[in-house]
Amino acid sequence: MSSPLSPATPGSKPKPLGVAKPTGFMKFQREVPKDADPTGRIRHWNEFHETMAEESLRKQGARCMDCGVPFCHTGNLVAGMASGCPIHNLIPEWNDLVFRGLWEEALERLHKTNNFPEFTGRVCPAPCEGSCVLGISEPPVTIKNMEASIIDRGFAEGWVKAEPPRKRTGKKVAVVGSGPAGLSAAAQLNRAGHAVTVFERADRVGGLLMYGIPNMKLDKNVVQRRVDLLAKEGVTFVTHTEVGKNYPSEKLRKEFDAVVLAMGATVPRDLPVPGRDLKGIHFAMEFLHANTKSLLDSNHKDGKNISATGKDVIVIGGGDTGTDCVGTALRQGAKSVVQFEILPRPPEKRAPDNPWPQWPKIFRTDYGQEEATAVFGADPRQFLISTTRFEGGENSKRVKELHTTQVLWEKGGAFAPSPVRGSEKVWPVQLVLLALGFLGPEEKILKDLGIERDPRSNVKADHGRFTTSVPGVFAAGDARRGQSLVVWAINEGRGAAREVDRFLMGHSDLP
Ligand SMILES: Cc1cc2nc3c(=O)[nH]c(=O)nc-3n(C[C@H](O)[C@H](O)[C@H](O)COP(=O)(O)OP(=O)(O)OC[C@H]3O[C@@H](n4cnc5c(N)ncnc54)[C@H](O)[C@@H]3O)c2cc1C
Ligand code: SF4
Repeated sequence: MSSPLSPATPGSKPKPLGVAKPTGFMKFQREVPKDADPTGRIRHWNEFHETMAEESLRKQGARCMDCGVPFCHTGNLVAGMASGCPIHNLIPEWNDLVFRGLWEEALERLHKTNNFPEFTGRVCPAPCEGSCVLGISEPPVTIKNMEASIIDRGFAEGWVKAEPPRKRTGKKVAVVGSGPAGLSAAAQLNRAGHAVTVFERADRVGGLLMYGIPNMKLDKNVVQRRVDLLAKEGVTFVTHTEVGKNYPSEKLRKEFDAVVLAMGATVPRDLPVPGRDLKGIHFAMEFLHANTKSLLDSNHKDGKNISATGKDVIVIGGGDTGTDCVGTALRQGAKSVVQFEILPRPPEKRAPDNPWPQWPKIFRTDYGQEEATAVFGADPRQFLISTTRFEGGENSKRVKELHTTQVLWEKGGAFAPSPVRGSEKVWPVQLVLLALGFLGPEEKILKDLGIERDPRSNVKADHGRFTTSVPGVFAAGDARRGQSLVVWAINEGRGAAREVDRFLMGHSDLP
């Protein structure tokens, strides 16, 4: 075996499977790329992860220890959360190839299971690392950053090229929605030779990759670069077109041989407390969408965003969406930013009832909280807090105060929060952002096509089959599963494409 630091031999072939370096995990510590200083990076909208030198990356590849039964690529649901990679990325293989300096081969392996590693390598919470065997006793192998490094190098070297199918089948497939589920379904169906049209109501393609996740987390040039490649491969994108509104749903059934519904779970959960109708209270997605659109359209010169500048901002909701609101409000120059979470603060280490290889439910500090801490000197998160009402100014319809109470989670009949007497508090606020999750897909198109929903109001279709109650109509991503992750959307888009191909051709070679 070559030394971890020796250059790759030109033309050398990788071994099909194998050990990176049997003792690398004892020799090298886990390393991840450094982030730019939080107080500096909030002055711009660019990504802020620095890159790692090749030598360091190869050492990280060497930490993958050929554990015999790798859990990192299992992608099972354990205790309701993903354990391992949901798209079954061939992680030990590409770690070994990087260790040996065989980057192009590593890229080829990566693309076998993942159409868009440049997205997951940037935004995935990396359940693979939570189930890494080395992680039982040591910090896990650096998997997510390895994924981003392989694909970024692939683009930089010019190895990622449009690969249109050699033959066309003559079948036409419509995909509704251009998020990661729709894009991965389109990529796979196009690869199988079908003529794919993706309908998107927004002005740009990408779903939440484009207009949900902010630019500093996922650069929109990175999204557009992949969309352009898909278009070069033959996928047709139709933007500004909302199926069920300016394109009749029934027309889809007439004009296409099959339909994939990948329109996301876009109905936001509201907070129906007194004062909700005051001005200055917005759903998180209104705020995030408008901010990215204004950034892309005019570098914020058009003033068409919801502004946090100079305001006391309260973000209600502790998830990814809430964090993105914190990071965005800071970049806009908010006077203060607080983030509410109704649940308790998670423990620092895995609790006894959350063992490996389950997703570790531990306290994490994401980029937005790190930035707010750097600017205001304290973590913006308030745990175990519930909003009871909003108050407007005298003679004003704008929000001025937010009233809260602390809560306790008690196991009575149902596990529900109850208010703590005497813990009421009033917060000055001029902008409130509601990031309380989503309630499923919008209903117009489902009603038009007569498609059944499941008890959680998502499209009813089994994972693995992806067929809805209407033959020839399939569903994938958040529309079927409820608000989830980019990596699950890719898993579902790929799976739905395989089932559509089988439906159209009687069999499928798609993975
Ligand atoms: C703010 C935010 C941040 C997130 N951050 C992360 C993260 O860091 N990591 C992660 O893994 N996941 C993250 N997620 C979750 C992730 O983005 C979603 O799970 C994923 O995008 C779902 O993909 P999808 O293709 O199913 O749907 P979407 O990405 O929601 O795309 C659906 C698309 O369908 C379009 N559409 C809807 N109805 C119609 C219609 N009738 N006609 C035409 N088009 C229509 C919509 O405009 C949209 O573009 C985040 C979610 C949000 C809201
Ligand atoms: S897609 Fe996510 S879970 Fe899979 S290898 Fe990449 S970071 Fe890990």
